[in-house]
Amino acid sequence: MRDFRDERWLAINTATVKSWSLEQAIEGCARAGIRAIAPWRDILQACGVERAAKLLNAHQMKVPSLCRGGMFPAAEAAQRRAALEDNRRAVDEAAGIGAECLVLVVGGLPKGSKDIAGAREQVRDGLAALLPYARNSGVRLAIEPLHPMYAADRACVNTLAQANDLCADLGDGIGVAVDVYHVWWDPDLAREIARAGARILSYHVCDWLVPTRDLLLDRGMMGDGIIDLRGIRALVEATGFSGYCEVEIFSAETWWKRVPEEVLAICRERHRSVV
Ligand code: ZN
Repeated sequence: MRDFRDERWLAINTATVKSWSLEQAIEGCARAGIRAIAPWRDILQACGVERAAKLLNAHQMKVPSLCRGGMFPAAEAAQRRAALEDNRRAVDEAAGIGAECLVLVVGGLPKGSKDIAGAREQVRDGLAALLPYARNSGVRLAIEPLHPMYAADRACVNTLAQANDLCADLGDGIGVAVDVYHVWWDPDLAREIARAGARILSYHVCDWLVPTRDLLLDRGMMGDGIIDLRGIRALVEATGFSGYCEVEIFSAETWWKRVPEEVLAICRERHRSVV
């Protein structure tokens, strides 16, 4: 395993410092000695892609991923076409800031639908339609399987096995984002991480709190919950993964209420001591 006393592999997902604009996040991370940042599209668009690219460059800040594309399933064909268009824009934005990949939260059930198999078909079709455009743009797509509690409204790809199957089916230019929050419980995790191998494009950390008070916005700081972070990192690094360890904490009642500089300092400390 890599020695994480060296922070060159630490990246901050901007959701962790939610109150900051992209400008503030880039400058704040730079001040904290953090060299990589993974923005969300809303704050990237608010900043402007060209301006963001200049700021990132000026601070020598790397971009492991852009969050997020996806949300493919929809009831009507016109809505699915609109989703595809939006995903192409996301690919352009990722290319514009030199992001190593575009993370995809693939979408759940179309409104009013109970057909999860059908939704999964639509996801596959959406990925297949987007992939040639992404390949042309030099942007890799990273399917992020989400914990099954989000299957209805966020992502009907819920295990690494499912994501690996899609990748095997779709060919080059597509891989997976492994987020410990979504996959820690999976009895097949070791096997599927090994199977993903070089397709692991993005690695996200936080922790699972007991009890979890909110299904979306109560993620824990690394070390405060029950995820075997070192164990999962060992599996991921055993595949040869040498990318960033991206801290992504949605936490409306705890971390989003703290001063972002303090949150970054704690992220750095936990990255060294427990990740
Ligand atoms: Zn994630």
